[in-house]
Amino acid sequence: MTFRLHSRLVLWNLVVIGLMATTLGYLLSYSIREDIDRQIEEQLRSQSALAVAYVESGGKGRSFDEVADELGRLLNVRVTVIAYDGRVLGDSSLNVAEISMVENHSARPEVREAMQRGTGVAIRYSASVRMEFIYVARRANDYVLRLATPLSAVDALVSELMVRLAFAVLIAAGMTLIFGYIIRGLISSPLHKMAVAARKLAAGDLQHRLPISGEEEIAALGNSLNTMAENLSARMQELSEGKQRLELIVGAMSEGVMVLDSAGRIALTNRSVRDVLETDRDLVGKTPLEVLRRPEIDNVVRNVLAGGPAEMVELMTSSGRILQANVAPVANAWRVVDAVVIVFHDLTNIRRAERMRRDFVANVSHEFKTPLTSIRGYAETLLSGALDYRKTATDFVRTIERNAEHLEALVSDLLTLARIEAELPATKETVDIKLIVDEQISCRRSVLAARGIRVLGECESAKIQADRGRLSMAISNLIDNAIMYNKPGGEIRITGRRENGAFQLDIFDTGEGIAAEELKRIFERFYRVDKARSRESGGTGLGLSIVKHAIESQGGTVSVSSKLGSGSTFTLRVPV
Ligand code: ADP
Repeated sequence: MTFRLHSRLVLWNLVVIGLMATTLGYLLSYSIREDIDRQIEEQLRSQSALAVAYVESGGKGRSFDEVADELGRLLNVRVTVIAYDGRVLGDSSLNVAEISMVENHSARPEVREAMQRGTGVAIRYSASVRMEFIYVARRANDYVLRLATPLSAVDALVSELMVRLAFAVLIAAGMTLIFGYIIRGLISSPLHKMAVAARKLAAGDLQHRLPISGEEEIAALGNSLNTMAENLSARMQELSEGKQRLELIVGAMSEGVMVLDSAGRIALTNRSVRDVLETDRDLVGKTPLEVLRRPEIDNVVRNVLAGGPAEMVELMTSSGRILQANVAPVANAWRVVDAVVIVFHDLTNIRRAERMRRDFVANVSHEFKTPLTSIRGYAETLLSGALDYRKTATDFVRTIERNAEHLEALVSDLLTLARIEAELPATKETVDIKLIVDEQISCRRSVLAARGIRVLGECESAKIQADRGRLSMAISNLIDNAIMYNKPGGEIRITGRRENGAFQLDIFDTGEGIAAEELKRIFERFYRVDKARSRESGGTGLGLSIVKHAIESQGGTVSVSSKLGSGSTFTLRVPV
């Protein structure tokens, strides 16, 4: 606001005062001048009559000039006596010498008028005395008597009037300024403060309050604005609390939630969505298509936004996660769909578990089928006559026994796995891994001797807190494999030491090793690199799964490194 209200008021007042003063000055000076001129004229008229009478009665015997001088003194005017032919006979302002040089006055308008009508009046500049004069001429018997008075007195009067007017203007201007100051205090300043405060309110500072001052109406306006700000602030508070609550609820939901606006762009998401999509980007403002890169979701969102019913769609993210998206419309008060809520359920684990269960059932059936078929086949052969041949019968029964043992081993391993997977918590007790390793080696002395396999290495004696049963089971399985997949006359090196808050046990064998592409699969159930060899040696394909579960159930890890042809190293790390 370059010109504030009160400044403008003051300015306009000053302009009005100026205009009025100018008009007044002009009119006054004009009319006063007219008035005074008329008065002087009247006065000169009567004085001229008197002067003629004086000249006629008392002026006898004296020259016109003398009489003019005397009359001039008495009346305090200029007196000129002019002959009918225009010669100046006497003049109160001129001496005798000067009179003789004065030009003929017959052409003077007042003289001419007096000659014609008896009296004549003129206002003009006198070349002889160099002043503006008012002249009144009166015709007498044989001359014209002319009285003149300068108008400088009138000018002085008018000037004085103008000075007074100017003084009045100054006073009025001063009063206007004082008035402006008062206005500023009463209206302009409170209004200005209000404007500043209103700007702050408009800019969002709803805590700002207006100062209540000035005139009653202005104070009432300020009060109304303050009440409005309070109400607005309360509404905003409610809204922001509501929004915060909504964000907290949505944020706390384990399901991924996306709220889309009427244009199908994301307006709100929660942490779970970003977790599921494995991103830390801000998704607000993007479309689900941009985020998920699946056209299915885009179609469903379009349908729902167009007024269709809620829909469910299953999609796979670029990182391979399987998501179920429930897309539901949100209608506003006019029952128009202006938002969409998508709730994502991460089905990855469920689907994986389903697949694993299916695979597991298929694998178990398959594992059971071979020995069972074999048992049935041999039993039928025995029943159909082979029993009579003792030698053959004994071989067949041995085979049946071996298959039954294999089945038993399978059932036993499955039970072990099931027990560990039932997530029964691992029991913690103080165990010395070295003792477990020694125990497991000594009970395999005969097998090791039969295959000519040497066991080397150094295992530190260390007391750790672990589940003895599961730890023994894992070490036993690893040593079994190290023997089973070793070459005759090979080596097993076992080293154990504390390292970085854990106990690390490495079991190295000089077997044929495992190809890199097989490495990541050998911990899967029933996965065998060489199926025939495994089965032949009584393996179930469950050993390494049991190791993995037994170790991980107590917070440890198991890993393998191997090079085809030069052996494998299985590493257990269990927390101390
Ligand atoms: P299995 O009962 O067949 O031994 P495991 O789960 O113990 O089942 O092992 C899975 C597969 O991993 C085995 O069939 C074998 O092919 C491979 N394997 C395990 N340990 C070793 C090892 N030390 N050396 C070479 N291959 C191994």
